[in-house]
Amino acid sequence: MTSTDSPDCLFCKIVAGDIPADVVASSDTAIAFRDIAPKAPVHVLVVPREHYPDVPALAASDPEGLAGVVALADGVATELGDGQYRLIFNTGPKAGQTVFHVHAHLLAGGELPGFA
Ligand code: 5GP
Ligand code: ZN
Repeated sequence: MTSTDSPDCLFCKIVAGDIPADVVASSDTAIAFRDIAPKAPVHVLVVPREHYPDVPALAASDPEGLAGVVALADGVATELGDGQYRLIFNTGPKAGQTVFHVHAHLLAGGELPGFA
């Protein structure tokens, strides 16, 4: 456990290997695993290994860590899809955030629905 780990955090437990996940890629600073309830043919969560509650906290404290999340997501999108994707950081409960360890939803594969 590093100083930024949060003991009750689901994604810290996945990073530590204490809870199993379908890990599709990893780097020194981030890991990528399939969402348990996929909303697209490819639906992967990309998280920094260190615990930050949301993306503005990560960006402010560790911009390279945020770049590492984006780079890993881009690699997974090429590996598992055609390199075209949507990257979503739900930020705050009203935006749908339920796990407060920053994570990018990587959605890819096929035609994604529009927002309108
Ligand atoms: P949020 O709603 O916070 O943006 O996204 C949390 C995501 O985590 C949801 O899409 C949910 O399906 C996923 N999730 C929740 N629990 C687990 C789990 O134990 N394993 C995996 N792989 N995904 C999970
Ligand atoms: Zn965490």
